[in-house]
Amino acid sequence: MEDLKLTPLNIPGIDENKRPLVIAGPCSAETEEQVMETARQLADKGIRIFRAGVWKPRTKPGGFEGMGETALEWMKRVKDETSMLTATEVAMPKHVEASLKAGIDILWVGARTTANPFAMQELADSLKGVDIPVLIKNPVNPDIELWIGALQRINGAGITRLGAIHRGFSSIDQKIYRNAPMWHIPIELHRRYPNLPIICDPSHIGGRRELIAPLCQQAMDMGFNGLITESHCCPDSAWSDAKQQVLPDVLDFILDRLVVRENVEMTESLSALRKQIDDLDNKLMDLLTQRMRVSREIGTYKKEHAMAVVQTGRYSEILDKRGVQGAMCGMDAEFVKKIFVAIHEESVRQQMDIINK
Ligand code: PEP
Ligand code: MN
Repeated sequence: MEDLKLTPLNIPGIDENKRPLVIAGPCSAETEEQVMETARQLADKGIRIFRAGVWKPRTKPGGFEGMGETALEWMKRVKDETSMLTATEVAMPKHVEASLKAGIDILWVGARTTANPFAMQELADSLKGVDIPVLIKNPVNPDIELWIGALQRINGAGITRLGAIHRGFSSIDQKIYRNAPMWHIPIELHRRYPNLPIICDPSHIGGRRELIAPLCQQAMDMGFNGLITESHCCPDSAWSDAKQQVLPDVLDFILDRLVVRENVEMTESLSALRKQIDDLDNKLMDLLTQRMRVSREIGTYKKEHAMAVVQTGRYSEILDKRGVQGAMCGMDAEFVKKIFVAIHEESVRQQMDIINK
């Protein structure tokens, strides 16, 4: 059910029907020179919306926490001198107040804040009566309801110019990505709210420069509305997220080569879906291996206690329980039972192997 009241983002000078809507700029506003230099180079390449973090959420204290209100002055200069619009992250009511006062055009809420309903409600309260586009990043954890809850809170304050930013999710088995994309989550968000613009953040998903181009292309192929990318005039010496920032020139090169097909429905590409299947099959194999190891331990126990390998009571209990569970998950109960008969057969074989040793 459409429980969000949405209107277009209505960003001055931006045609929202033209994909991608691009927001670019450094992870953090570090110095006036870095901000101005990056902004000028991006503006030269035709970028219309400049991003920079003014307040930075850091995992541990003592790191660079952003330049705060000093940096807002630089954002004003960017606006005046390049006529780009400006966007920054807000996490607390005082950030909202200072940003509005400095004429920031677009606000975004970071992943750590979205995950905190208290903080979201405070932000929402501070936005009552304000008319500004707000983009909400997904929470760090893969919880679509928490993401929707944050959107609802901001919407409840009267903000209808809403958008979502997909920046990937924390996950224990991160190998390729800094934040696992779990594309099915933004796709489900789109299914529930077809009018909510979704912007992909390849920088925070990838965490590495080389992944920006393929992620941008993937986002376009899947029908995302826009891209928010980190770009820095001197990426290697960036004070935060150095590995994932690209030169404005490089960003231009990437955007130039993007193939944007119109009328793409927001769905996952076949190759992304196959990758998900491969990942799941790997997990299934890991689980089966673990299960067989535990079975062998049980085999050792049975041997030491001179017990029979097959305990029929236990066997039918497993089959019945899993059959019912399978049916509740939308699978055929007989199919699930067949799987467990096969797993049980292999378990028995492994236990016999131990007993006969
Ligand atoms: C950022 O955009 O620089 C940022 C801090 O992002 P996230 O909230 O996605 O970690
Ligand atoms: Mn960053």
